Amino acid sequence: MKLVKGAYEVGDVKLLDVANQYGTPVYIYHAEKMAEQLNKLKQAFSEVNLKIKYAAKALTNISILKFLCNQGIGVDTVSIQEVKIALQAGFKTEDILYTPNCVSYQEIQEAIKLGVMINIDNISILEQFGHEYHSSIPVCIRLNPHIMAGGNSKISTGHIDSKFGISVLQMRHLQRVIKSNNINVIGLHVHTGSDILDADVFLKGAEIVFEVAQEFDNLQFIDFGSGFKVAYREGDVTTDINLLGKRITKAFKEFCKSYGRELELWFEPGKYLVSESGYLLVKTNVIKTTPATVFAGVNSGMNHLIRPMLYEGYHDMVNVSNPNGTSRIYSVVGYICETDTLGFDRKLNEVREGDIIAIKNAGAYGYSMASNYNSRLRPAEVLIINKKAHLIRKADTMEDILRNQIALDF
Ligand SMILES: *Cc1c(COP(=O)(O)O)cnc(C)c1O
Repeated sequence: MKLVKGAYEVGDVKLLDVANQYGTPVYIYHAEKMAEQLNKLKQAFSEVNLKIKYAAKALTNISILKFLCNQGIGVDTVSIQEVKIALQAGFKTEDILYTPNCVSYQEIQEAIKLGVMINIDNISILEQFGHEYHSSIPVCIRLNPHIMAGGNSKISTGHIDSKFGISVLQMRHLQRVIKSNNINVIGLHVHTGSDILDADVFLKGAEIVFEVAQEFDNLQFIDFGSGFKVAYREGDVTTDINLLGKRITKAFKEFCKSYGRELELWFEPGKYLVSESGYLLVKTNVIKTTPATVFAGVNSGMNHLIRPMLYEGYHDMVNVSNPNGTSRIYSVVGYICETDTLGFDRKLNEVREGDIIAIKNAGAYGYSMASNYNSRLRPAEVLIINKKAHLIRKADTMEDILRNQIALDF
């Protein structure tokens, strides 16, 4: 987002023009920014056989999936519905990884029928799978290396109490299930959480997987999941992708040598690819001054962007319709009947009623976590690509709210 001649632009499109054309609230994404992130990742790992599987749950709009599919990457899905959207978006079955947690065995069978790569994170499911398919369907195993990592306990998945993955401490049990059913394990997977800053954490996870991997003869890839931290505000420290690339590449090459074969190295970035490409534009309904605070009340809230309330996600904001106003401090709050503070004590150019505020880092886990709470309508989504804005999802209407409801005749 750049300030050009008094107007904020993304990919040479004025944000205010998008707000005027499509109304507010509206989600806006910038395709070229996603491609830029993708290229940074590819370059950092240019010396290994890298495969990127976009974590679809971050932003699941079919046009976004089509755009990323056209970039030549694969996709990581966590539900059978995401598998189906990915197939519709054009991903080939062999480029789709299905990484569910606590789903029914029937859902896994359905994914196998669709022909995608299965990632199993539970011994009981693996036993059922083994009894039915033996070595006929290759699988990936999701391990839990028990590393505490990530920005917030709610987004950390590798620790001892986590429900994700098969514990590395259960290796003997796991091997017994694999051997007795002749299961063909071709990949190992770890994903230790989100917002991981430190290359050491990834390396620690990697070292544990490399050790375990020696007990599997038929591996084709190792999947290091994701969790790269992106910038949420000016000057924010982020995962140093180049440093991570250097260190993981070195460790991975050494591992491949001792393993005796070149394997593929997979990552499943969600946030890293799409977070910074997204903006949620909201309109200020009211300014409310209380004895303690000046509130800017906007036409959105936890129904459209729940990250601040769910796990203290930080979203920088800019007043795009008064870029030269005097800076003042505001608490930006939503219109939902809950305490849905989008940003505490934010310095913004003077916010007047009617002003449009752009909420940054709204590409990942924004729309994909949106709901109709308070019977509010979910916003439209717009993709900026080649300097043009395209509608990629219409805003909800009242019919959408009522669609599956059944009004009984009393
Ligand atoms: C959510 C998730 C990701 C993506 O995480 P980000 O922090 O958005 O990059 C990757 N892999 C799995 C298995 C996930 O559940």
